Amino acid sequence: MARKKIIAGNWKMNMTPSQAVELVNTLKPLVVNDDVDVVFCVPAIDIIPAMEAAKGTNIHIGAENMYFEEKGAYTGEISPAMLVDAGVKYVIIGHSERREYFAETDETVNKKVLKAFEHGITPIVCCGETLTQREQGVTIDFVRQQIKIAFLNVSAEQAASAVIAYEPIWAIGTGKVATTEQAEEVCKAIRECIAEIYDEATAAAIRVQYGGSVSASNAAELFAQDDIDGGLVGGASLKPDFGQIVCYNK
Ligand code: PEP
Repeated sequence: MARKKIIAGNWKMNMTPSQAVELVNTLKPLVVNDDVDVVFCVPAIDIIPAMEAAKGTNIHIGAENMYFEEKGAYTGEISPAMLVDAGVKYVIIGHSERREYFAETDETVNKKVLKAFEHGITPIVCCGETLTQREQGVTIDFVRQQIKIAFLNVSAEQAASAVIAYEPIWAIGTGKVATTEQAEEVCKAIRECIAEIYDEATAAAIRVQYGGSVSASNAAELFAQDDIDGGLVGGASLKPDFGQIVCYNK
């Protein structure tokens, strides 16, 4: 069965609650595409108002992060049960900005992935190399290691429903998009890695996104690749351009 594309916006630390409502209202008529699962991953404080504004539309509201414990003395964190209660179905795990600024590691990513599945939330698991790693020719080894650790103790059935976002760090927020060949090569290698860990059926089912300066002008070519099942979009998800990205095939 063909995989359904999934295109997710990552708002990062942008939009106050009232701005979030305004942005959802602006984008909702622009992001209608039955061929695509559309997700807006928003700051925690925006989840409930954005969810309300998106009611009755095809937009899923997702989270940008989640903690791996159930509850308790973890000041400032957000629990999986809080996300579930708010109606969240998707959560970004291990974005490179969280790894860089908030000390997330492959091990904490794995704990969060397991916890998300335990609560029925689909993780969007981020991976990707630095420019130095690419220049040293270790991109695929590095990304395979990230994936192998992120999916430790995850069942095949869970993995089949997961989303992986391949995001070369040098392409995030820089306007420097990976070439279509570079993006496809790594997304394909990720799928092969999933086949090695699990089996061909799991690899055929899992959705692999590309992220890194996706725009209205490069989305169609990137998403046409065999192993690229959509995108994780930062900057352009805050603009009407996101409508063109979601409707890349129209
Ligand atoms: C991201 O935040 O995941 C991202 C890919 O950002 P941008 O699209 O702005 O490069």
